Amino acid sequence: MTPPPVPEAGAMGLRGCETCGLVLGLPAPRGRWHCPRCGSALHARKPQSLQRTVAYLLTACVLYIPANLLPVMATSSVLGRDSHTLSGGILELWASGSWELAVIVFIASIAVPLLKIAALAVLVATAARRSGWRRRERAALYRMVETVGHWSMLDVFVVVLLVGMVRFGVLASVEPEPGLLAFGGVVVATMLASSAFDPRLIWSTPEDHERD
Ligand SMILES: [Zn+2]
Repeated sequence: MTPPPVPEAGAMGLRGCETCGLVLGLPAPRGRWHCPRCGSALHARKPQSLQRTVAYLLTACVLYIPANLLPVMATSSVLGRDSHTLSGGILELWASGSWELAVIVFIASIAVPLLKIAALAVLVATAARRSGWRRRERAALYRMVETVGHWSMLDVFVVVLLVGMVRFGVLASVEPEPGLLAFGGVVVATMLASSAFDPRLIWSTPEDHERD
């Protein structure tokens, strides 16, 4: 059953503060308004949300290449120094029998960033056309991207932990390599992309005139 149409807050001159949640009735929709409680700027939609999201997504795509091609960490032991890329490390973990770890690293470092970029690209492309296609599912997809985002620094933490733990002086050590920086960049860029995307755009219809 489809719910009856409800008047939209934006059309009623209401604005919600994104920082503190205060809902205000504005005397005029145009012009710059600030939240009287916390001082944040009030917008019906985040300014230039789609352009900023696309810019961050492109940054993430560009950084994804060195993140996968460059070594993320180097191990040195009495046997010599060895550099490891993300995919190489996963294969080594798999080959050494630690397949649970290999699966976790694969999910955290290859699958999640790619799926996150793809999900945000779908959200941006459909929001740009003000498409009415599967709005509820797209809203759920956005919430999922936000939830997964909390875990996306997992890989960086793993290497940082290893660097901290594996210090046997001259016998063995682990050092971070430039690929880790690029990987951290991918994670930060996708986090910025998902925070720049305004989920309210999912509900925009072609009839909606441009709001500030
Ligand atoms: Zn506020």
